[in-house]
This record gives sequence, structure tokens and C-alpha cells, in this order.
Amino acid sequence: MVHSHEEKGQELFNVYKQHSAVINPSLQEHNLDLADLEAPFSVEEIKSAIFQSRSDNSPGLDGFIAQDKSWQGSNLPCDETDKQLFRASTVISLGNGNKAKFWHERWLEGKAPKDIAPSLFQIASRKNRTVAQELGDNRWLRQMRRMNSTVQVREFIILWHSLQQIHLQDGIEDSISWRWTPNGCYSASSAYRIQFLGSIQDNRSTFVWKAKTENKCKFFGWLMIHRKILTADKLQLRGWDNSEICPLCGIEPETANHLLMDCAFARQVWSSMWNKLGLHMPSPSLFPGRLLDWWEACRKELVKEQRRNFDGLFIYTAWGIWLQRNGRIFNDIYNSVAQVVDFIIALCKEFDEALSS
Ligand SMILES: [Zn+2]
Repeated sequence: MVHSHEEKGQELFNVYKQHSAVINPSLQEHNLDLADLEAPFSVEEIKSAIFQSRSDNSPGLDGFIAQDKSWQGSNLPCDETDKQLFRASTVISLGNGNKAKFWHERWLEGKAPKDIAPSLFQIASRKNRTVAQELGDNRWLRQMRRMNSTVQVREFIILWHSLQQIHLQDGIEDSISWRWTPNGCYSASSAYRIQFLGSIQDNRSTFVWKAKTENKCKFFGWLMIHRKILTADKLQLRGWDNSEICPLCGIEPETANHLLMDCAFARQVWSSMWNKLGLHMPSPSLFPGRLLDWWEACRKELVKEQRRNFDGLFIYTAWGIWLQRNGRIFNDIYNSVAQVVDFIIALCKEFDEALSS
């Protein structure tokens, strides 16, 4: 068994080497460790993600949704993925409530009221007021007179209950903190736990942060393991407009598991990757709905020393599928399985060259 594992490992290593320019000493010295969990994005990456955002819902430089959009000087194409990563990465700490938008921003236990109560958001007449404006004299309540369904009443009770815990602090500005930095404002830590860590029962996924890939891709890998990527099913929960059908196969409803494991298109991408690398990996169909189990089973096919490379490839492959999905939805770009695979391999190469330069 060990023998065959070693062979597979060697095979993977060779093909990886061949496809990713050179694995040189500088790459091997590039030891990524758990400290990366604390700073998966550099400030520059954050800024560029914000600058490239063009949607009205994108945050401004200070992290808040700006009314004046003049800061968006850039004509670069908007990258929905970056924006999603940004939204998933930030949390607002409330001070005097003069900056955060009541409905739109994630100031309430790490969530935005429009996500907590989407049907109330629909009947709210003034949607762009600040937290201070809406909480002052309980103004938000006045808009709720138009409630006429049990769903709205249920949402109202949940929202009302959460709002009872809120106390605005005079003289302190609202601030935004980056979830992944230890020096972020820790009044936000409860939200952090609720939204992210609360769903994690174990530390099985720490290998994601050691994978050989860019930080934003590691972060994506982590989001996907914890089913945090914003697929159609999640968007629907939030009451956002979208097609519920997977844009890759055009047949099944889009969920994270479908998109990455069950979709016929995605499976072809995975199997072409394995073929190119000469690997024989267990089929995702053996692990219904359990991406992390499948990933772990794949890793076990390799010797320990090869796993970080493999994790990088695994994440890049999922990332390539995700970008193809976004390309179809947002830019009307349809690539074939072969093109997606070439793209993924180019990503691996690019990353390797960046490391060795
Ligand atoms: Zn599909």
C-alpha cells in the first residue's frame, strides 16, 4: 500500500512540476502556516476588491455602503467573487449608529436586517436610513404597520428581539472590522462565532490554510467546506433575485454541493484534472453532501508530503468551477470543460511563477 501511495505521490509531484513551471527551493521554503488564517488578504487585496466593485451594494473604502459613489473611479470589470468574499469577511461594530445603514449592513449580530427579515425589508418605506435614524424613537416600527402576513410577523418578532440587545454608544463612530485579524474590534467576536465558528465542530479543515495556493483561494476553500459560498439556494434564503438553476448543467437546482460535487459539468472538470495528473481519486458520488469527507478521502490517496500540493490543486479546481459559474451568470461567458481545465492549470502556473520570481 505504502508503495503505491509513494508512486502516486511521485506521479503527482512530477505532473505538478511539469504543469506548474518549476517547483524550486523558494517555493519549498514558502511555508504557509496557520498564521495565514489571521490574514488571508492583504490590505492591498481588500482595497483592490473594493475599488473594482461597481454594484450599488458594494462597500465603500471605509467598508460602509456609500451614498456618494464618487470613490468608484475605476472602470475595471466588477468581480462578483471578490465582493462576496469581502462581504463574508467583514463585520460592523456599532457605535453611535450614524454610519451603518439600518437595513443593508451587517451590524446586528453580524447580519444585515434585510437578511434577517427579508419580507419586512420589502415593506419598509425608507430603506437607506442609518441605524441611529431608525432606532431613534423606534422609527423603524412605524414602517411595520403594513405587516399583513404571518411570515412578516415572525420576522418582526425575531428582529424586534435582536434589536432589544442594541445600545448605541454616543461619541463612538461605527467601525468595520476584518473578521480574520486578531486585532479586529472584538465586540464583533460574537458575530464571528455565530456566523462562522458556530458551524464548525472540529478542526478537520485546518489543512485548507496550509494548501499551496493563494490566500484568497484558501479562503474560498474554507468557505466552500463550510457551505458559505453564495449559491442560488443561499441567495433565495436572503430574498435576492436569481435563477435557481445551476448555470453549469442548466438542469439541477444550484446548491454548493451540487455545484462542486454533483453537477455533471463539474464532475467532468474534476475527472479531467485527475486524468491530466494521472490520479485515481474516489468518486464524489461516494460522499453525498459531504465535500470535506470526499476531499479527505482524496488526500488519503497520497503520501503526506504531497498533500499540500494536492490541496492547492483541489482548491484551484473548485475555484475554477466557481469562476466559470460566475462567468456564466455575470458575464455571459460559456467555456467548455477543456477550457476550464486549461484555465485552472494556468492559475496553478501563475501562482507558482509568482512564488518563484
Ligand atoms: Zn449543475
